[in-house]
Amino acid sequence: MPFLAPNFYFETYAGASIDFLLEHGIKALVLDIDNTLEPYENAEPGVAVRAWFSALKEAGIQAAFVSNNGKERVETFNKDLGNIAFYKAKKPFAAKVKRAMREMGVSKAETLFMGDQIFTDVLAARLAGIRVALVPPIKDKTDVLTRTKRLLERPIMKRYFRRNKKDV
Ligand SMILES: [Mg+2]
Repeated sequence: MPFLAPNFYFETYAGASIDFLLEHGIKALVLDIDNTLEPYENAEPGVAVRAWFSALKEAGIQAAFVSNNGKERVETFNKDLGNIAFYKAKKPFAAKVKRAMREMGVSKAETLFMGDQIFTDVLAARLAGIRVALVPPIKDKTDVLTRTKRLLERPIMKRYFRRNKKDV
């Protein structure tokens, strides 16, 4: 497994279904928020995201947010969900990912990270030593930096899809 390739790739966060998580022995999710669960402009989780969290809870799967975004964004998003949550997490540094796992009381093998950015989310998960699922950004930015990042991600994802025999 190349260091920056994800373990799993889903079209949306919902690919991490209860069946999938149980099948893979996952008891806790560490989650990015922006463009993974909702686009930047949605301050609160939508109906589908809320339903997914309810299903997780019912299945006994914990969830924590580790976001590089600020306090207000994270607290507003998490208001009704009440998950363990860290803002300004400085991903790809893994400190807050590890802390989230400690607070949830789960091992590396029991935890899955899910995010939309290879150089922040996938790398943070790798540095924390846990598995990671990548989703494409819900609503990608079009600025030069973002487009450059996508370009740099392309060979990594090409290799991933080649190994997993899917089309890019
Ligand atoms: Mg994101």
